Amino acid sequence: FRITEDRIMNYPNSKELFERASKVIPGGVNSPVRAFNSVGGTPVFITKANGAYLWDEEGNKYIDYISSWGPMLLGHAEPDVVKAVQETAANSTSFGAPTKLEVEMAELITSSVPGVDKIRMVNSGTEATMSAIRVARGYTGKNKIIKFKGNYHGHGDSFLIEAGSGALTMGEPSSPGVTEGTAKDTLNAEYNNLESVENLVEANKDDMAAIILEPIAGNMGCIPPKEGFLEGLRALCDEHDIVLIFDEVMTGFRVDFQGAQKVYGVTADMVTYGKIIGAGLPVGAYGGKQEIMDYVAPTGPVYQAGTLSGNPLAMAAGYTLLKKLKESPAVYEELEKKASVLANGIGQILKKYDIPHAINCVGSMVGVFYCEGPVETFDDANRTDKELFGKIFHGMLKRGVHLPPSPFEAFFLSNALSSEDITNTLTAYEETIAEIT
Ligand code: PLP
Repeated sequence: FRITEDRIMNYPNSKELFERASKVIPGGVNSPVRAFNSVGGTPVFITKANGAYLWDEEGNKYIDYISSWGPMLLGHAEPDVVKAVQETAANSTSFGAPTKLEVEMAELITSSVPGVDKIRMVNSGTEATMSAIRVARGYTGKNKIIKFKGNYHGHGDSFLIEAGSGALTMGEPSSPGVTEGTAKDTLNAEYNNLESVENLVEANKDDMAAIILEPIAGNMGCIPPKEGFLEGLRALCDEHDIVLIFDEVMTGFRVDFQGAQKVYGVTADMVTYGKIIGAGLPVGAYGGKQEIMDYVAPTGPVYQAGTLSGNPLAMAAGYTLLKKLKESPAVYEELEKKASVLANGIGQILKKYDIPHAINCVGSMVGVFYCEGPVETFDDANRTDKELFGKIFHGMLKRGVHLPPSPFEAFFLSNALSSEDITNTLTAYEETIAEIT
């Protein structure tokens, strides 16, 4: 894999497909951040992927730092995952009745993760967070929730108020179509600022059902919690009978097999998952303490359901991946080493070219900000030089490196990346910076 002039990317087939797509799909894509809105240009249409690589419609090969926005922790087309899906599909793709695999999946997660006594499978991270707050409201009999500016929890109405990532990239503080009634029950605090949460709780303490957050914010780059922040939220929730929800859709089974809860030693009342637990098939899940989860139908009064929930293909893929991860804890150390080589290399290049920057790294999530550090809040992250990001993105793309097309997304590393891939990525990065500065 050499980075030479003949690898400069050209992709007319993707351009033609995007024109066709734009006539029949809103914005030409089925999820906004894929549309390259914040970096300009045309998205690359992918035909196949293997390990750490993607191939486009022209047959160009790219090193992948999106990993399908997180799920592909061991790389694409992981042989055991593919085999499990193929074997399961041969026995039909859905039954609408319970399966042994669902039990095994729930047992695997509840026996591994702190604080999750029971878990319910759904079909996306969005469904998981939507359901979790409904349950928290049912359980507490209260209405309001606190979320954090720049955190993203999917596209449920309650969360589209100063949301991160895709929504942030669109520059919309809040989405039209969300009613005032819904919006008034969502209060926004500042991530890493405990006082901003205490003030909101104080002003609304009789009606505060839940505090939901990304324990490591991954939808405004990568911003880890400051020391004492998660512990402070835990104490506040205990004091006022508020349900603390960690949205680990991104961080779950990525930063550690036991997620951010393990990394920071703070246990939430409820946790939401997605991405890795489906290994690339559509899955989400929410779980938590037994007394809370027993509020869910059919045991309890809070209704939540799904025709395809616990789908056999999704369970087969996710269970196979989770089992592999559980059996090989060294994966997490390897990933962390790869991430730190990449982050240090990028930092050295930016320093050499005198470009202000801050790099945050937790496990295999790397956030590069083109501004002075530290980056600890949404307002810090928002200072990143978005124009420079766009130029770097395209410089990397044409050299065969597919970065997330948004200045507010972390790089998601997969363990399929070799040290040569990382060296090649850094070569492409230095060439790009030399070209645009
Ligand atoms: N929560 C977090 C932290 C996420 O990063 C995402 C998606 O990126 C979601 C929830 C929503 O998940 P989904 O896109 O599967 O609906």
